Amino acid sequence: MSHTNQARLDWFRVVCAVLVIAIHTSPLASVSKEADWFLTRVIARVAVPFFFLATGYFSQERLRQAGIGKSLRKLALLYAAAILLYLPLNLYAGSLHNISPWTLLQDLLLDGTFYHLWYFPAVIIGLLLVRGLTRLLGWKGAGAAAVILYLIGLGGDSWYGLAVRLPGIGRFYTALFSVMDYTRNGLFFAPLYLWMGGCLHERMPDRGTAAVGLLLSGCAMAAEAVLLRHGGICRFDSMYLSLVPVSLCLFSLLAADSHGDRKDLRRFSLVLYVIHPWCIVVLRFLARPLGLWGLLVENSVVSFLCVCLMSSLLSAFVVLALQRTRKGAPPPPAPARAWLELDRDALIHNAKVLQEKLPKDCKLMAVVKANAYGHGAADVARTLQSAGVSAFAVATLGEAVKLRQQGIREEILILGYTPPEEAETLAHYGLIQTVADLPHALALEAAGYPVRVHIAIDTGMHRLGIAWSALDELEQVYACPHLRVEGLFSHLCTADGDEAEDILFTKEQIKHFFETVQALKDREHCVGELHLQASAGILRYPELPCGYARAGIALYGLSSRGEPEDTLRPVLSLRARIASVRTVEAGECAGYGRAYAAPTTRRIAAVTIGYADGIPGVYAGHSGQVLIRGRRAEIVGRICMDQLLVDVTDIPEAAQGDTVTLIGADGAERITAGEMAEKCRIITNELVSRLYPRAR
Ligand SMILES: *Cc1c(COP(=O)(O)O)cnc(C)c1O
Repeated sequence: MSHTNQARLDWFRVVCAVLVIAIHTSPLASVSKEADWFLTRVIARVAVPFFFLATGYFSQERLRQAGIGKSLRKLALLYAAAILLYLPLNLYAGSLHNISPWTLLQDLLLDGTFYHLWYFPAVIIGLLLVRGLTRLLGWKGAGAAAVILYLIGLGGDSWYGLAVRLPGIGRFYTALFSVMDYTRNGLFFAPLYLWMGGCLHERMPDRGTAAVGLLLSGCAMAAEAVLLRHGGICRFDSMYLSLVPVSLCLFSLLAADSHGDRKDLRRFSLVLYVIHPWCIVVLRFLARPLGLWGLLVENSVVSFLCVCLMSSLLSAFVVLALQRTRKGAPPPPAPARAWLELDRDALIHNAKVLQEKLPKDCKLMAVVKANAYGHGAADVARTLQSAGVSAFAVATLGEAVKLRQQGIREEILILGYTPPEEAETLAHYGLIQTVADLPHALALEAAGYPVRVHIAIDTGMHRLGIAWSALDELEQVYACPHLRVEGLFSHLCTADGDEAEDILFTKEQIKHFFETVQALKDREHCVGELHLQASAGILRYPELPCGYARAGIALYGLSSRGEPEDTLRPVLSLRARIASVRTVEAGECAGYGRAYAAPTTRRIAAVTIGYADGIPGVYAGHSGQVLIRGRRAEIVGRICMDQLLVDVTDIPEAAQGDTVTLIGADGAERITAGEMAEKCRIITNELVSRLYPRAR
């Protein structure tokens, strides 16, 4: 998420909750009927769309890609609690006497069991609809469908008188109103706002546009409301056509440049919304015995203020009590300074794509060395484990032991050299050790522990392994009583090459490997699992008859050089924050060595990430860029150990605390790890495996 700053939005939720109280108490009724109508039936109508927009905005990512299960569960739970809270009033009002399964369902799903509770089923149904429509029709198609639903809702609401003049429409709405009280309930009102909230997350109009838009659409809405009312067209007055641009502009105006995050206010406004009808009832219940009916009920202004006060006190109490009960839990992590985000769905997707390229009986061995190429080994391994990956490869003993301690019970192969003194640890954790050469095998054997091994065969890379033609050496390993040879493998060192020479060399490597395998079989050795391909091998030579394929870089949706296959999805995003923004006048310099001189007056932002977090220092000199508010900004000056500078002159809204994306997407823009690596003149593997952002 690019815009996590939302304090102003949270404040406005409270305003909206108060507006809803106004709708339910008519504060100006005893002053002026007209003024009250305008306040409660026009102005206050922005409240609910605002809630919908905020929900859509903050669930955008989940709506588009992942599940919305968690949001739905939370909403359903809240709704259930609210139903219980109002059950006594339902009982008191006798509304449960002649209830049938059908009316119960209607109340639960459409109208809400109490007059204001329609909001919860509307959000739940709305989220499900937008998600479902997005899957079915794509994001844009879902928007079009939401517009149509909104128009149908509008026709049953303030535009009713006009809509029913169309042939057949009257009967349609009669049927509709036999199952729901209002068209704002259920499926017509919420989807459009939820969808638009998602769009705003991608692109937000700037403040000037939003302000002018609000002014114009506000006037339009006033005119629309007055005309519809005096024309006797309204059936209800919950929805207007111009409410759409009004809510959009208002939300954008508030969301722009908003800082911080007030969860307490968010909870407060929710509780306020849920409990205020109870306060209205209690106020009326107390007013008569106290002899204050005239003041507390009939004076609409006092009545409204009393309900606000009672509801606010109660809500504040609930929020504080909630905070207290949560004190026992560990404190939430401090706002991160620089951090990695993992797209677990993408990781699982990549594993599936690679697995599907391989023959049925060839299993994926996920290479999670070097902290899973900088992605975080524990997280990556657990995700893949849950997706059914049954073998992992690491570079070192330490990496392997750590995985075991983190609960990875699957096969773990150590690809690098492990000194023979560690044989006991290898045996203890049931790890598979690579035999680096004959002396290594003999030393491990001499240690005297039962060690599982795969023998590396040198087919031409000349890094590790016993030469493919040295059959007698290989046989000596098989003869070691403590070593359990469970597999043979080799490594293709030019599998990603396009030159005819590279391809020839690779084919030669493959041929020699299988010749050796055959020779050992001929001598009655059990060769066990065979593996040859790494990522490039899987993509270019998928058909080899092996038991495993060792996927590293491709698993992370990357390619060593350039951009990966487009069936693979990048897993990692790297983000930091703006620490400070300042103006640098023409001719002034910035950063170490005064390496950057401002050609004109520039706005320069300091960002909370540096070379000690893994950003190569040379990135600055090779037109390195970052994303801020969905736009690209150039890195200027030298990259420091913990910070770097970017030119944000063209992003005037850029402000302290803003999220800065170094790798990943922000809005429609994306910087890939491949792009960054290419500019740094290193391969992607080197770039990502060095990332180690300090979170705070
Ligand atoms: C690192 C490594 C791999 C994984 O390579 P990728 O190109 O990242 O898939 C496979 N095998 C060995 C021996 C390795 O060292």
